Amino acid sequence: MFGSVGSLLSAAGDSPLWQAVLDDDCRDRGVSPQASMAKMGKLWQVMKRSVMDYDPTRRSPCGLSGGQGAQMATLDHSICGPFIQEVIGVALKMGEHNACMGRIVAAPTAGACGVMPAVLIPLQRKDRLSDERLVECLYVAAGFGQVIASRASISGAEGGCQAEVGSASGMAAAALVHARGGSGAQSAAACAMALQNVLGLVCDPVAGLVEVPCVKRNVMGAMNALACADMALAGLDGGIPCDEVIDAMGAVGRSLPTSLRETGEGGLAATPTGRKIAEGR
Ligand code: SF4
Repeated sequence: MFGSVGSLLSAAGDSPLWQAVLDDDCRDRGVSPQASMAKMGKLWQVMKRSVMDYDPTRRSPCGLSGGQGAQMATLDHSICGPFIQEVIGVALKMGEHNACMGRIVAAPTAGACGVMPAVLIPLQRKDRLSDERLVECLYVAAGFGQVIASRASISGAEGGCQAEVGSASGMAAAALVHARGGSGAQSAAACAMALQNVLGLVCDPVAGLVEVPCVKRNVMGAMNALACADMALAGLDGGIPCDEVIDAMGAVGRSLPTSLRETGEGGLAATPTGRKIAEGR
């Protein structure tokens, strides 16, 4: 397990970052590289299958979620263009699929399950990337996710939504950089910028359900990841090293009041409409 992004980058040296994460997994779990890659490959296939299994007619038990991922595709002349329209659609579909008890890959959590597939699946199609390349991207994402989990948190109950959708966004940004052939340092810069942009994001699920605002926050996480990956690939960075951003995220999470850490008592959950929805359940 890597305790810092710095140690992850050093372990990789001149090799690709994903290779260092793969080697670490083999050491940690005592498995062969083939076995590790087979497991990661399966996760990638499950992620893609989840999107294919999305059923636009399904609704969540409380009726708050469902159908909007498909509705997104019906918009003519999206302001964002067809690629981003697809990204938004996949993020919505996965958030809804989760709310409807469909099978998803928690990356890093169920609430944030839409971010990674929303950016990686459309990019695979657009850039005609192989599944092997996408598996490498998942290792890069996992490396950053590990560090975030060990230095801060990936749990909304512990660190607010910055820890869930924010972590997913940082992991996805790092993975996107690899998909486009960027360096490990650029992946770190992308992750750092993505986390900076969501610092302080609270966890305030209406009625305690992972639906409002969670489903649409996945869209935000995906868009943030794309922008930060592009900025990193252009040579930009956020001015604060990734490890320090992660530490700041941990400190902010610990200072959030309990009402804004998945209790469904603050933020949007405490609005008049949020309370009405909770009472009507
Ligand atoms: S608001 Fe809370 S429950 Fe919803 S996705 Fe964010 S962290 Fe998860």
